[in-house]
Amino acid sequence: DTQEAAPAEDASSETTDAAADTAADTAAGGGKVGVAMPTKDLQRWNQDGSNMEAQLKEAGYEVDLQYASNDIPTQVSQIENMINSGCELLVIASIDGDSLGTVLEQAKEKNIPVIAYDRLIMNSDAVTYYATFDNYMVGTKQGEYIKEKLDLDNADGPFNIELVTGDPGDNNARFFFGGAMDVLQPYIDAGKLVVKSGQTDFETVATANWSTETAQSRMDAIISANYADGTKLDAVLCSNDSTALGVTNSLEANYTGEWPIITGQDCDIANVKNMIAGKQSMSIFKDTRTLASKVVEMVDAVMKGGEAPVNDTETYDNGTGVIPSYLCEPVFADASNYKELLVDSGYYTEADLQ
Ligand code: BGC
Repeated sequence: DTQEAAPAEDASSETTDAAADTAADTAAGGGKVGVAMPTKDLQRWNQDGSNMEAQLKEAGYEVDLQYASNDIPTQVSQIENMINSGCELLVIASIDGDSLGTVLEQAKEKNIPVIAYDRLIMNSDAVTYYATFDNYMVGTKQGEYIKEKLDLDNADGPFNIELVTGDPGDNNARFFFGGAMDVLQPYIDAGKLVVKSGQTDFETVATANWSTETAQSRMDAIISANYADGTKLDAVLCSNDSTALGVTNSLEANYTGEWPIITGQDCDIANVKNMIAGKQSMSIFKDTRTLASKVVEMVDAVMKGGEAPVNDTETYDNGTGVIPSYLCEPVFADASNYKELLVDSGYYTEADLQ
């Protein structure tokens, strides 16, 4: 009574060539989707890519998934190949939001819709939709965490803090940093939080390519200039886990005082291990399965000629107008809830975190 699969195979073996083509087509659903990811260096993008690939295939699409080693020309040529090899829709997590305008003009000419994935693609009117986590909320959660842990409304302070954010070409970095600073700036203005290095503006605290090594060497310099004499560092705002890792490495090598609060984002494995070991205070969990399934829903709607689901039509202006967006909700993670959040949900195994 569960033999339905067998007759279907029999039927396909009897089809004509033309019908076989159609059958192959529908086996791969409504067509081919290009998925461009920035790099394999960061764990999250591997997860994003494999979740997208698996879920798109399950929905019946053929998938061309590419990673660009954080190299802009590589990403541009990968997208060009996708456009020229029959992709009917592009899902792109850009390396640099401002570098895809020219190649996406070709997509627009061919009426290939583009969904910006996680990072907004700037100054291109070829962008149809944007799907991401609420980036501003990521920042406010990090800022609120520092505010609560230092009890800034009650404690006398002052407390020393340093600031580390991400790549200036990634539109998200401004939202993360902006969200956190909207919480923290009033305390800096009131003198309750002190940035001893004096490095507070976005460009100065940015980290090219979100590089762990770059964050680490900047922190090395900050410590030797400001905290080598035993001055206590109370908190480091890090916009994500790769930068938090650099800061943690630097502190381990150079800093002898009481361990500071360190924020992060992504729940990368190395960082979850650091949270368990007490070296990183918190992270933000952005379940890439959630984002992938939302994007697959959007892809499916657009491929079938409909409109994608969105829940925000005012926040993300890419310079050509507001891009209709779907914002998923980021979740707070620390040593107390990681098991439930990451292990029980099947995102990682317990063994991954040992
Ligand atoms: C993503 C973060 C990630 C960072 C570095 C950002 O655009 O939203 O999750 O940590 O890029 O790859």
